[in-house]
Amino acid sequence: MAPMGTSALVLFSGGQDSTVCLAWALDRYDRVETVGFDYGQRHAVELTARQVVRGRIAEASPAWAARLGEDHMLDLRGFGQVADSALTAERAIEMTDKGLPSTFVPGRNLAFFVHAAALADRRGLRRLVGGMCETDFSGYPDCRRDTLDAMQQALNLGMAQDFVIDTPLMRLTKAETWALAKGLGGAALVEIIRADSHTCYLGERGEMHAWGHGCGTCPACELRAKGWDEWVAGGRPQIAA
Ligand code: ZN
Repeated sequence: MAPMGTSALVLFSGGQDSTVCLAWALDRYDRVETVGFDYGQRHAVELTARQVVRGRIAEASPAWAARLGEDHMLDLRGFGQVADSALTAERAIEMTDKGLPSTFVPGRNLAFFVHAAALADRRGLRRLVGGMCETDFSGYPDCRRDTLDAMQQALNLGMAQDFVIDTPLMRLTKAETWALAKGLGGAALVEIIRADSHTCYLGERGEMHAWGHGCGTCPACELRAKGWDEWVAGGRPQIAA
């Protein structure tokens, strides 16, 4: 796709979804920077995966390498101390009495966008790209497009800006996310996501499964494995970016 002559900041964790978002942004924007957040998550493995994935994406395409700009890491450990969830504390992954998974970190995506927008303002980047999805939805209320529409409006009013929050995966199933990756970067991108991106909630690299590394039994691994199986069963279709 021809570039739209603009720039983006991708919220990039090194997981499957944000890796597809990074490729999606590199496919259409001239200048793309990435931001990651250290909020005291129990596992540093995904922070390591970020650098590996960025490097391999740049190797995969000279055009993407030319557009891929700086990486930023923001320290949100103060926020992590306030929030209470299975990702930041030693706590079982289960449903809470509010009907939300214990992996839900209240306000996390909202905090991410406030920090990302402040960074984008400083860096002169207009698009904020996030991998939120309400289709194969884990039940996180801050992944809803309604929430992000309200966030976009609040950021633009509060910062006198004209940001656009892009959520290219919002309406896709996990199988369709693999199909989008294939459409964006072919088999090479699928392999980067499969082998190098990290999704497991328990922070396990562990065994290499068909769908990638991970414990295989936590909700994130189950979702990723199910999407992979559906995609393969469907003949590994690709979605045009
Ligand atoms: Zn897992």
